[in-house]
Parts: sequence; structure tokens; C-alpha cells
Amino acid sequence: MKDVDVNPDEESPYECFECGTIVLSTDAPGTCPDCAGPMRNRRTPIE
Ligand SMILES: [Zn+2]
Repeated sequence: MKDVDVNPDEESPYECFECGTIVLSTDAPGTCPDCAGPMRNRRTPIE
């Protein structure tokens, strides 16, 4: 695991793949509160 130097008390934005809902959470929400779709951390660069 790399990039683990994040402050655990700091909220990170997570974006729903399905509907684009943004959730601020200190840990991964896992699923979207609106549509139960998969969430991703917007700070994590994706290819
Ligand atoms: Zn969603």
C-alpha cells in the first residue's frame, strides 16, 4: 500500500461511480447512500 500518509481525521471526498454523488467521509463509505453503487476516493488517481 502506498500513499497512506493521509490524516485519518481528515475527511476525504468519495464519488459514486453510478450517480456521481459526492460523500465526505473519514473512511470509505463502501456504497453510495443514494443508489448503493460503488464509491471511489476522488483523491486516488485512476487511469
Ligand atoms: Zn450513487
